[in-house]
Amino acid sequence: MLIAANWKLHKTPRESEEFCDKLLSLNWPTELSVALFPSALCSGAVSSVLSRATKAKLQWGPQQVSTEVQGAFTGENSARVAAAMGATFCLIGHSERRTLFHESDLDVRRKVAVALEQSLRPLLCVGETLTERTENRTTQRLTEQLQAALKDLDSTDKLVVAYEPVWAIGTGLVASEAQVGEAHQTIRRQLSALGFPKSVPILYGGSVKAESAGGLARTAEVGGFLVGGASLAVESFYAIIQASASALGLQR
Ligand code: PEP
Repeated sequence: MLIAANWKLHKTPRESEEFCDKLLSLNWPTELSVALFPSALCSGAVSSVLSRATKAKLQWGPQQVSTEVQGAFTGENSARVAAAMGATFCLIGHSERRTLFHESDLDVRRKVAVALEQSLRPLLCVGETLTERTENRTTQRLTEQLQAALKDLDSTDKLVVAYEPVWAIGTGLVASEAQVGEAHQTIRRQLSALGFPKSVPILYGGSVKAESAGGLARTAEVGGFLVGGASLAVESFYAIIQASASALGLQR
């Protein structure tokens, strides 16, 4: 199981370092992987703390990368640079990127390919809006997003997918276990149809807190969580790690 923190545009380098130091002083079962997605300007601070820690214990990645690897692209983040800094993952296609920064399905697809070429594990976010859910178009939307991002890509177990219903992100509304179970089955079926192995983890993201993590962790096809708001304080993020570990019966 992978539990990942998306810090969005929060934290200074000093605050990022303090968070990492505090989290590294805590323990969790080795079956749980933990990853941090700091804002771009805090990557150096996070990578330097984590380079002194056991690599497997805590990993990190940028919140987005350019479709381009290098060149005259002022202001972009390079997957190549992130990999050289020790990043393992890269968030791609978060709904805030799609909506606020107009990332198209084509951009998302190119970013997944670039991340893989540069040896980063793409954490691809997909999810329906409230209107799409109300109009019974959730399955259609998830299928479209996965096909647009992954069709014709070579199969790989480096991929991670996050189901993030747009209506649940930052709203305090958590999808029910039944809704998550159904969406994750749809994603799994689509991943299989596209040739991706069963080992590709499918995370859930959308207002996860310790109280909801236990039940969701036991839901079929839930391979972890992508956590926004509750990842900003070590205490609430660690509580999610602990709730997941105890729901799965894992020992520290
Ligand atoms: C996110 O931004 O990916 C997210 C899931 O945020 P929150 O947990 O705050 O809903």
